[in-house]
Amino acid sequence: MKDPTRNPEEARNKGEALFALVKRLYPICRSITGNGVRETLQVIKEIIPIEIREVPSGTAVLDWNVPDEWNIRDAWIKGPDGRKIVDFQQSNLHIVSYSIPFRDTLSLVELKKHLFSLPDHPDWVPYRTSYYKETWGLCLAQRQLTSLPEGEYEVCVDSTLAPGSLTYGELLLPGLCADEVLISCHVCHPSLANDNLSGIAVATFLASQLAQRNRRYSYRFIFIPGTIGSITWLALNEHNIKNIRHGLILAGVGDTGAFHYKKTRNGDAYIDRLMLRVLRQTGRAHQVLDFEPYGYDERQFGSPGFNLPVGCLMRTPFGQYPEYHSSADDLRFVKPESLADTLDLLEQLVGTLEGETRYLNLNPRGEPQLGRRGLYDTLGGLSQTKQRQMAMLWLLNFSDGDHSLEDIADRSQLPAEELREVARVLEKNGLLKQLSSGG
Ligand code: ZN
Repeated sequence: MKDPTRNPEEARNKGEALFALVKRLYPICRSITGNGVRETLQVIKEIIPIEIREVPSGTAVLDWNVPDEWNIRDAWIKGPDGRKIVDFQQSNLHIVSYSIPFRDTLSLVELKKHLFSLPDHPDWVPYRTSYYKETWGLCLAQRQLTSLPEGEYEVCVDSTLAPGSLTYGELLLPGLCADEVLISCHVCHPSLANDNLSGIAVATFLASQLAQRNRRYSYRFIFIPGTIGSITWLALNEHNIKNIRHGLILAGVGDTGAFHYKKTRNGDAYIDRLMLRVLRQTGRAHQVLDFEPYGYDERQFGSPGFNLPVGCLMRTPFGQYPEYHSSADDLRFVKPESLADTLDLLEQLVGTLEGETRYLNLNPRGEPQLGRRGLYDTLGGLSQTKQRQMAMLWLLNFSDGDHSLEDIADRSQLPAEELREVARVLEKNGLLKQLSSGG
């Protein structure tokens, strides 16, 4: 199934374009709200025509409220000798996201209550947030923290936390039918390359690719802050979600690890079978993870009141690489080849989805009486009879509108070609109907 037109140069160009977008977005200080998200969405908008939406602070969204908007201009610590020892301008990971404004002079003991480091990785700066507890904090390398002398430290956090809005981006690419494929990625992390810029880059280029081709399905891309973004989107779109047939979260897809696919809540959705089939058929190393209500936004889309069939594609799962949520998740940690390979996989997934055939059993209550219709006789020579009979039974049982012919081939271990032939016979006899849309 590998794309025969794909040549090394094309792959290299694709990888470089994806990486260039990651690199461009990397310096921006994003959070769950604020100008960093807007700036990021503006860059995406240069590539695909997303709509940028603003939801006012205080808006009730499901069991939550849209928080106040956070913006940061500067943050630093000056040591006892008056020199800056921690500087937001050097790396936006130095500020705990959502830190409230603060300006004062503190003793080392008092200061340390607001400092965060990674003892196991003494040269890395951690990524920390405090969205829902009003406090301030700064992050630094453990090696620097342990070398701080006693004395007075001047601290400046030049931020604002005030009513504003939550910003997200959305693009709907309509297809022949209203059935939707939802692709979602989060846009709320500051200078971290794999988590979340890799997902943003791959989603952007996938949308750009899809915009140029004929589409049977409609595709909806959303670029949202984690958790509160999907909750907000779901709250505002309850009327739209009935069209979502398949969904995918993209997160951490630029490192060199093998693919990890986390299945939907129900575990046997069409997207689950499709993703696993494409991973297998294209020979990519992969692992399958069962759904659990922890991780990325699949847990919001997959909350019981929505129960949408949304899986999550990652390479190395979050939390399983030491660089996760630290300054080491930088531009060296994501690779152009990995980004390009993830985009290829998704293009193959979409290509397969668009091409698959589905039938509906028109006589689904009990097995139809095949002998009465003379169907046992039309199935050729004796040697083939048994297999053809099995093909009929598999097709009739699984042509429920949800399983494709390819799913049935997978599950029954019968050749797809044979199933296709038998499906035509059943169609002629009024027992199956081919579904024309994604429906
Ligand atoms: Zn994260």
